[in-house]
Amino acid sequence: MSNQQDAIIKVKNLKKVYTIGSERVIALAGIDMTIKRGEICCLFGPSGSGKSTLLNMLAGLEKPTTGQISINNARIDKMNEKQLANFRRTNFGFVFQSYNLLPALTALENVEMPMIFRGVSHELRRKQALKMLQYVGLKDRVKHRPTQMSGGQQQRVGIARAFVAHPPVIFADEPTGNLDTHTTYEVMDMMSKMVKERNSTMIIVTHDNEIAEYGDHIIKIRDGKILEESWRDEATAT
Ligand code: ADP
Ligand code: MG
Repeated sequence: MSNQQDAIIKVKNLKKVYTIGSERVIALAGIDMTIKRGEICCLFGPSGSGKSTLLNMLAGLEKPTTGQISINNARIDKMNEKQLANFRRTNFGFVFQSYNLLPALTALENVEMPMIFRGVSHELRRKQALKMLQYVGLKDRVKHRPTQMSGGQQQRVGIARAFVAHPPVIFADEPTGNLDTHTTYEVMDMMSKMVKERNSTMIIVTHDNEIAEYGDHIIKIRDGKILEESWRDEATAT
């Protein structure tokens, strides 16, 4: 029996209003949604629709104006900064559009970073990071720094870093936004495969139809609201 059917993320009446001077921007206008463990969930919509805002709330990077977010049965909207930082460290992996690798560090050192924060021993860190870099096909690039690698290679380092500590939830905001079509599929195949192997959960923000194809669960966002939600057959089969 798989435990694929239990909800890992629950969101209730989530709103986010930004105030700039006297102007109010309603970035999220009341979102209700549930994401199941093991799911690849795509937040899909045009630029400015509120996708990144939603992802940032789910990932505990920004506070909602109102509403509830529970992840793994923890109410992250109620946590203080310190609790949140700790929760993110143990539960989340991140893949960014612009890779966000540390430029002074080698590929290997970049992949080791999340494990440093988790207090993993030097030896084990090295071993795990090497294994991940091998997995993403960069065994011969471990000593390269970000500027010495292509965009696709840098994003594969980013993926290795996101998955290395086995977080239950991976967040990816337009992870292939800077990549060519061929590399986009490579990167998406790699992430999807890893999520499925580990029964982890991935939330991907995209405005790209081809990326949304990877989703088990697609949430269309428009003007800070859910326009439509759909599930691929495999994900809903019970
Ligand atoms: P998307 O990721 O779908 O392109 P965003 O979530 O980045 O959209 O933005 C949604 C809306 O919220 C946009 O109108 C944007 O201008 C606004 N917004 C996002 N972040 C901020 C911010 N920090 N301050 C003010 N407005 C913001
Ligand atoms: Mg965005």
